[in-house]
Amino acid sequence: MFDALLAQPGVRRLRSLYRRHANPSGAALAAAIAAAAAAVLYALGDMSELAERRAAAEPAAFSQAYALATDDAAAAGAGVLSGVLDDGWLFLRREAAPELAARVPDLAADIVSRLFVEAVVPLSDAGPRASLASVLGGLFSLALVAIMGRYMMTMTGLGRSIGEALYVDEIETRFADVAGAAEAVRDLGELARMIRGELSYGALGARTPKGVLLVGPPGTGKTLLARATAGEARVNFIACAGSDFGGMLVGQGARDVGQLVARARRMAPCIVFIDEIDAVGKARGKVSHTDYETTLTKLLAEMDGVTAAGGVYFLAATNHAAALDPALVRPGRFDRVIRVPLPDLAARKKLLALHARGLALAPDAELGDIARLAHGFSGAQLAALANEAAIQAGRAGASAVAREHFERALMKLSIGERVEGAPLAPADRRLVAYHEAGHALLALSDPAAPPVDRVTIVPHGEALGHVATRPPEDVRVMAEAALRSRLRCLAGGRAGEIVGCGEGARSTLAAADVAEVSRLALEMAGRWAMAEPEEFFAAPEPGPLEGPAEATLARARAIAAQALREAVARLGERAAALHAMAAALEARETLSGEEALAIVADAEAHGAVAPPPTRAAS
Ligand code: ADP
Repeated sequence: MFDALLAQPGVRRLRSLYRRHANPSGAALAAAIAAAAAAVLYALGDMSELAERRAAAEPAAFSQAYALATDDAAAAGAGVLSGVLDDGWLFLRREAAPELAARVPDLAADIVSRLFVEAVVPLSDAGPRASLASVLGGLFSLALVAIMGRYMMTMTGLGRSIGEALYVDEIETRFADVAGAAEAVRDLGELARMIRGELSYGALGARTPKGVLLVGPPGTGKTLLARATAGEARVNFIACAGSDFGGMLVGQGARDVGQLVARARRMAPCIVFIDEIDAVGKARGKVSHTDYETTLTKLLAEMDGVTAAGGVYFLAATNHAAALDPALVRPGRFDRVIRVPLPDLAARKKLLALHARGLALAPDAELGDIARLAHGFSGAQLAALANEAAIQAGRAGASAVAREHFERALMKLSIGERVEGAPLAPADRRLVAYHEAGHALLALSDPAAPPVDRVTIVPHGEALGHVATRPPEDVRVMAEAALRSRLRCLAGGRAGEIVGCGEGARSTLAAADVAEVSRLALEMAGRWAMAEPEEFFAAPEPGPLEGPAEATLARARAIAAQALREAVARLGERAAALHAMAAALEARETLSGEEALAIVADAEAHGAVAPPPTRAAS
């Protein structure tokens, strides 16, 4: 019924009513509470209010009032502003004239619902006037119905609406709100102009694309871009996620698709955005494979059915285009692909500037510098970074957000919140210091390794220490030398433990390093064919369940062992610097890259005294 309501011209003012009902989660409960509250107020209020209202109004026949409420010309002619149903009476408020009052005929429930559907003026229902006893009874049954209804809807997925609809005047997002995704903004800008009819490649034979796929990692602004496209194109917008389709009932996914597209048709011109489209039909793993196929087929059929000329455009997002069903990316469907990669340095700087717009920044908070440290961060993470830095500054009672607040926020977002627990035992703390000093010293002494920004033994999240480095931007190719350097730096932690505290000091601190070394070494021994000098062959890998072949494992193990051997040898040659850095970390907890370099230079110029041996932590 509410869908039909929307289709009426001039009913836009009733949209909020529609939307509340279109989204049943909480709507039933909210409606019950609202109705109950209204009823209680009426019961407690003066019952003669209705009589007074009728006395002040001009009487009218119901048929006359009905026409005035449902006919554009008649309503305009009589200056009707709005209507209200009040305990069996229809009152019409008029411009510069008393209200009209018409008695609603008894047993006219269907007439009342038609009135709501066809009304061209805002119409509301004041609810029945009743005694307190009947109000309490009504309240109880309403609550019961609301709770049962909600439960049934949640369990079955029936009666729900897929996606969240925004009307064009509600969309404030524009491309100006998007930073650093220049390529995507250019392509979607073209689409927006085509939809607005300002741009046509028709002469070149190009048609307005019907389906556009945005491919990129999470948090890179795909949803934001889709909404901005609708904002720029001045069309309505429906956003949903692939995992919304389907439920416990067989065929639910296909029904959801049909319902979504029907809604989009009514809202045309309209952009439908489907996030995580790879999950279409795979709702929470509850449906069978056949159901997934049915959902997908239905989506494809519907896409074929609503051409761009019908004013419905599909935008979808995915993190991995390779995992998509090929049928989805066939011409006429999602045949246009726009990459939305992680932001590079320049883009990160723009993103930070955008999200730090409202912050009072201290002079040392140089956003370019912070963007450099935020390597690998997505737009969403950069937005969170600006927000977290402001929180850190607030907590510290600072009047402006300084670089140190950004640094603290960076640590929190990349490795976890600073842990203020009981201090480590001295021997364990020393082990952590050697572990981190080992990583840092290897990175500092290897020209192929990325610069070191900071070394710390302050626990954050799961990590008891951390070396922050600044990897080069946008690496697409890695030479073997760079890979081996990376392996050595990763092995530097374990090597630091061994060289600093003795062979028996190998600790659990290296777990994450071992995992990353193993991953890289396996690639080198496998598809990159780098294990032996003249190797140029990769044996076909068994299936994912069997894991890598035994021979590949053996060669990967050798690559990893060699990295550790080299790391131990290099640290052995620079033991004085290792001891000095570990001692400085124990004393100061955190060192900047420059401080770490100065300690190394000083130790190697003067020779450092090794600290007294401590028993290694078990
Ligand atoms: P995705 O859909 O790719 O996972 P979102 O569009 O949901 O990413 O991004 C989440 C939030 O991150 C946005 O609302 C915005 O605050 C921020 N964000 C991400 N990318 C950008 C960008 N390119 N420009 C501005 N803000 C961005």
